[in-house]
Amino acid sequence: MVSRVIPVDPFDLVIFGGTGDLARRKILPGLFRRYCANQIPTSARIIGVARTQLDKKAYRILVRDSIIEFSGNHKVNKKYLETFLLMLVYKKVDAQGEEGWAELKDLVRKDVVNAYYLSVGPGLFGEIASRLKQWDIATVESRVVIEKPFGRDLSSAKKLNAVLSTHFSENQIYRIDHYLGKETVQNLMAVRFGNLLFEPLWNSQYVDHIQITVAETVGVGGRGAYYDKSGAMRDMVQNHLMQLLCLIAMEPPSQFNPDSVRDEKLKVIRALAGVKSHHIVRGQYDSTKTEQSYRQDVENPRSFTESYVAIKTEINNWRWAGVPFYLRTGKKLKTRSSEIAIVFKKLPHSIFEQDGEKKQNILAIQLQPNEGMTLDVTIKEPGPGGMRLIHVPLDMTFAEALGDHVEDNPDAYERLIMDVIRGNQTLFMRGDEVEAAWTWTDPIIKTWESRHDVPKLYEVGSVGPEDAMALIRRDDRVWRDLK
Ligand code: NAP
Repeated sequence: MVSRVIPVDPFDLVIFGGTGDLARRKILPGLFRRYCANQIPTSARIIGVARTQLDKKAYRILVRDSIIEFSGNHKVNKKYLETFLLMLVYKKVDAQGEEGWAELKDLVRKDVVNAYYLSVGPGLFGEIASRLKQWDIATVESRVVIEKPFGRDLSSAKKLNAVLSTHFSENQIYRIDHYLGKETVQNLMAVRFGNLLFEPLWNSQYVDHIQITVAETVGVGGRGAYYDKSGAMRDMVQNHLMQLLCLIAMEPPSQFNPDSVRDEKLKVIRALAGVKSHHIVRGQYDSTKTEQSYRQDVENPRSFTESYVAIKTEINNWRWAGVPFYLRTGKKLKTRSSEIAIVFKKLPHSIFEQDGEKKQNILAIQLQPNEGMTLDVTIKEPGPGGMRLIHVPLDMTFAEALGDHVEDNPDAYERLIMDVIRGNQTLFMRGDEVEAAWTWTDPIIKTWESRHDVPKLYEVGSVGPEDAMALIRRDDRVWRDLK
């Protein structure tokens, strides 16, 4: 197969927090895979930064072990790994002190793309941004990458944006939401705007409702302390689910470029209706005979934080007036499944005796565990017996349908890091998008807090709290099965 990979320009990528969990699990294995795909030139350098005292050799061993541990199903090519490690450098730098900055300045080359990945707690973003400028390390061409959470409410998001914008212009800031790096999410745009078929139907005249589900089987893992202060609304809805909703609902951008796409997404967030309290259900997972409860997992017996949210909302514009958008996300559910389902309206009239007309066409876009799409259509059941109708999915699971083409597909982190190096911000959140998302989310959270809202319990391994089922049932609809 002819390689479709376009190598990026040489770069210096400085990873603040180069020894941390995210760097070891995602960033460094992702860079290694892109290197194996011949996308990263050997003249590129990756500079790990943290406070721990390590020499270059020790850092390379740490990275080698991380790549082996976290490469999942990908076979690690040992020969490539040895040469990849030669691109790694380590510098002990204290983000909050003066130690190490002078050496870092000498290390970073100004004549290649340079990017600074702030894979550290958000409390350090401001200090690092200001020191990069104070020490004259970053230039107007440099890029800075930050990870969610982008604040924990509107006010902190504004402060964070203000600090970043003191030192960098918006076109240098890359806010990562890894959901946007997923192949299927981009395919959503390709399907909508690359085909004539769907766009004419993509509105309130033909769409009955839309469901967005991000269901996880995992609990809070080692992030209990962080998660308990955050909850599903801040951790998932404000960013991942909101971004998916934007891509489904936005108007066609005039061009596929960063600001055209982000302008349209912003309009969607601003048109979102406020959520009435009976259109939202908060849940918290409860123990079973074999599984711990949320409260046991976070070691907080009085926690009222939600590990599940279901929301019904609408978008107040001409395209979507009256179309409900149902969003739900939760931890410790029955299955791991992320899916967007566009459920089309029932036929206005059926010429068939059978009840086939009761079925609706559904375009389902799966993000996890397998990326793909299905379109449920009604056809005649083959064989004799008259006109019997059946409803079947036209299935395009990418791994099966596209074969070789998906084999070397970058995962979300790989794709997004390469976009940083290429200077393409299309799949990154802009500051005003983040603030608009908090503007919508804040009143919901504040209402819960002021009412000391108690989340509804649901059993580990279930599909969520009963109230969430009732939320959609009241509208004569049902959630899609968590397969
Ligand atoms: P982590 O495991 O705690 O790692 C933090 C890193 O920062 C370590 O390398 C640490 O090394 C370094 N560090 C801490 N204080 C420092 C300082 N003053 N100066 C220089 N380096 C310092 O955290 P993480 O899980 O990797 O998360 C990093 C960021 O990504 C956070 O903002 C987190 O919210 C976000 N995030 C993480 C994940 C994930 O899956 N882990 C997912 C989404 C978002 P030393 O202690 O040696 O300095």
